[in-house]
Amino acid sequence: MNDAASARLAAALRRAGVIEVDESLRRRAEYSSDASLYRVMPSVVVFPREAGEVAAVVAVCRSERVPLTARGGGTSIAGNSVGSGVVLDFSRHLNRVHDIDPQSATAVVDPGVVLDDLQARAAAHGLRFGPEPSTHSRCTIGGMIGNNACGARALGYGRTADNVAGLDVVTGTGERLRVGVNGSQQPTPMLTELERLIRSRLGMIRSEFGTFTRQVSGYSLEHLLPERGFDVAAALAGTEGTLAVVCQATLRLVRAPLATALVVLGYPDIAAAADAVPSLLPCRPVALEGLDERIVSIARRGPGGAAVPDLPRGGAWILAEIGGDDRADVGSQADALLRQAGALAGWVVPSAAEAAAMWRIREDGAALSVRLGRHGPALAGWEDAAVPPERLGAYLRDFDALMAEWDVTGAPYGHFGDGCVHIRIDFPLSRPDGRAVFRGFLTDAARLVARYGGSVSGEHGDGRARSELLPLMYSAEAVQTFGAVKHLFDPLDVLNPGVIVRPRPVDADLRLASTPLSRDRAGLRYLDDGGRFSTAVHRCIGVGKCRATAAPGVMCPSFRATKDEKDSTRGRARVLQELANGALPAGWRSAEVAEALDLCLSCKACSAECPMGVDMASYKTEVLYQRYRRRLRPAAHYSLGWLPVWARVASRTPTLVNRALRGPLAPAAKRIGGVDGRRPLPAFAPRTFRHWFARHPATGGNPVLLWVDTFTNHFVPQVGIAAVAVLEAAGFRVAIPEHPLCCGLTWVSTGQLGTARKMLSRSVAALEAAAKAGVPIVGLEPSCTALFRGDAAELLGRTPAVTAVAESMRTLAELLTAADGWQPPTLAGTSAIVQPHCHHRAVLGYSADLALLARAGVNTRMVDGCCGLAGNFGAERGHYDLSVAVANNQLLPALVSAAPDAVVLTDGFSCRTQVDHLAGRQSMHLAELFANTTPRGD
Ligand SMILES: Cc1cc2nc3c(=O)[nH]c(=O)nc-3n(C[C@H](O)[C@H](O)[C@H](O)COP(=O)(O)OP(=O)(O)OC[C@H]3O[C@@H](n4cnc5c(N)ncnc54)[C@H](O)[C@@H]3O)c2cc1C
Repeated sequence: MNDAASARLAAALRRAGVIEVDESLRRRAEYSSDASLYRVMPSVVVFPREAGEVAAVVAVCRSERVPLTARGGGTSIAGNSVGSGVVLDFSRHLNRVHDIDPQSATAVVDPGVVLDDLQARAAAHGLRFGPEPSTHSRCTIGGMIGNNACGARALGYGRTADNVAGLDVVTGTGERLRVGVNGSQQPTPMLTELERLIRSRLGMIRSEFGTFTRQVSGYSLEHLLPERGFDVAAALAGTEGTLAVVCQATLRLVRAPLATALVVLGYPDIAAAADAVPSLLPCRPVALEGLDERIVSIARRGPGGAAVPDLPRGGAWILAEIGGDDRADVGSQADALLRQAGALAGWVVPSAAEAAAMWRIREDGAALSVRLGRHGPALAGWEDAAVPPERLGAYLRDFDALMAEWDVTGAPYGHFGDGCVHIRIDFPLSRPDGRAVFRGFLTDAARLVARYGGSVSGEHGDGRARSELLPLMYSAEAVQTFGAVKHLFDPLDVLNPGVIVRPRPVDADLRLASTPLSRDRAGLRYLDDGGRFSTAVHRCIGVGKCRATAAPGVMCPSFRATKDEKDSTRGRARVLQELANGALPAGWRSAEVAEALDLCLSCKACSAECPMGVDMASYKTEVLYQRYRRRLRPAAHYSLGWLPVWARVASRTPTLVNRALRGPLAPAAKRIGGVDGRRPLPAFAPRTFRHWFARHPATGGNPVLLWVDTFTNHFVPQVGIAAVAVLEAAGFRVAIPEHPLCCGLTWVSTGQLGTARKMLSRSVAALEAAAKAGVPIVGLEPSCTALFRGDAAELLGRTPAVTAVAESMRTLAELLTAADGWQPPTLAGTSAIVQPHCHHRAVLGYSADLALLARAGVNTRMVDGCCGLAGNFGAERGHYDLSVAVANNQLLPALVSAAPDAVVLTDGFSCRTQVDHLAGRQSMHLAELFANTTPRGD
């Protein structure tokens, strides 16, 4: 649909009383894909606020004959939640848990509620919703119902279909229906007709449907059998929004086990692990998961690599979760399971932290296995087929042979207790015969799974990737019955067309990492993406971890504050993918790209926390570089971007400059400089650190070079002075670079890459000799230290000098923890609120700091979020409100609840500025905390 048609459709929706309608190109780009291989640009995105609006949207789609695709978290992997007409996003407003009744163990919820939010509410009553996809932190109940989602614990608690008690829906006929178990729904002509249809095909349904738990493909007609009570609510689960749109759901909850244990078992290979499943099932584990060694090895190489716990010997593992009433109960169950296992080795995972780390690896399996592709990313498409569990080992061996026949590879893992196998495969889609290989493999794989009595989808639904394959699994009568059911519920084919009935070809609408922009002279080098910006932005495969708002971690601070897809890493990546595909007419200068990136804080959390390592801060730098190359820039790029130069000028008469900038001239200065009027400007120090150091007597000891960054030198020389005291007390002889230098950080974050490169190369050249001589270089400002360790190679290449400097660069904590014989001062009784700078966490890692603080006896509480200021971001005009909202997420509540005498510890200059400005509290650098209790060198 073109822009004019989108505008007409949006107008029709508004006339029908629908309030939040967005037909902008940017918004449509954000919703053009889910976690699948498919790209379908919608015409309009709607954010419904109540069921009446949903009915109005269905009515408009019927009258205009426009497709309607319901959407929750958009984490479907088979192209289930993309569509060319209206996309209805339930996650924005219809996301409340209305009621939890502990007596009946039921919950009444909106479709857009995120599973983890429901679990948190249910946990207060000792209850939980049974099924739990790996995407539990962002998938919604509506999406779970749509796909009949399962997850690891469906083995113990059943699928979503087994836990839906009632639904309030709008069908494709426009009817509002309340359907529940055992005929509790009102008998309508449509339901009477449905019952008649089912009764006319009982033999076929009884023999073909409900044959094993993970037969999720097609419509689950078995729920409509008379002996099952004509359970329309259960039958609607898994229909992928093709029959009705869910407006409210009543769910059955289960009692959460009081104690759990995780057993890990090693086997020679993944098929041998699958062979063990039938002997483990009688032990009744809640979850029984398979994991291939190749996935674990990718996790080991990733940013959280150190967090992979010890595993028993083997080339594949089974993880078995056991639930019980107490530790003794789960202990004896675990012993029984270990006896049954026939494993090479196995044990109970010793701590909850290690068990959580194992689950994290398993849950990130989809994204981790992407990196196993030989010629590019391993892809979705055939990722959740299931066979009866007793046949799993044999199926996996045949599946391996099939992959070899087609010359593709993948590492299986998944819900082995239910016979459901996840895998990503390196389909050669960029080759001329790529599509043919994709289609041919999927067809052969569907035949294989059918031979094993299995299902082409075991939990993700059929979507666009498998609907066409249904005739290979079901009889013609069954497939014809799907069409007849669809005709009853949605005769005009408006609800998610192309899925299950009258399917789109599996190889239509594929979203490929297409040709790079013709004008793409990349500013950064994209060393791990073949030198291409377009490949880098296609790293985002849509798993949506950046939409998790209650999960631990920083990513994505702007989404956590606004809850708008536009402000998520994924939403931004989608817009940049459209840019890379050449679909945005104004290219780098398009308004869509500017809007998408405007609220990105460049915190780099995604580079570490996104399982695909999407580094939005770098892409923002690239866009700013390309957009403003040889053009007038926003004022803040000149004021804040050139701060190191202004600081050097100001250092000649700091008192005078401070008086001018912080006195009556401040409002004008901020206006001209593009700085938000509410932000106080930081004061220049009366004497720079370099000035102080020039008069500081040298000491003996092991040499260390102290990197003097602009912030330490010009604004907080006391941090540098404290660092010198600590380093000298630790036995170091401190030197500083002979001349003032700069890493170029402020030019990088504003996309002024020419100047950034000049600054950085000068600094690398000045540091090279010390680095090559083995002298450690210590950085005090985390973002400058991180630049040398990370982005420097992206700017200058992995030259010997850049590598040597990166390898020599240390944080203060890293240097001190490795210093022979040095002991931190005793700070027992000190409590500290610790706000790690985002670049510190993401690029450098914060574990050395925490270890050092623990050794000093400091009682720490770490803030698990961004401060919101993020360098120039929060100071720039237009970003103040978001900056405060981000601070309000974690930092400010932590400060409010902290004891008045608690130390606020943060190494980042911007974090300290934010703490001071928003909470009125003094904060300090780690160097200052230690220096206060360390004998001074002079
Ligand atoms: C990394 C990764 C791991 C995953 N692991 C699992 C797993 O362990 N187990 C599992 O089962 N799945 C898994 N999935 C698939 C997916 O996350 C789940 O199916 C999830 O439940 C989808 O929820 P969602 O809110 O994202 O739904 P969406 O993707 O938004 O929608 C899913 C389907 O439901 C329909 N729908 C959404 N809302 C409504 C509504 N209100 N009314 C009617 N239809 C609606 C959509 O049209 C679509 O067809 C995984 C996905 C990823 C990316």
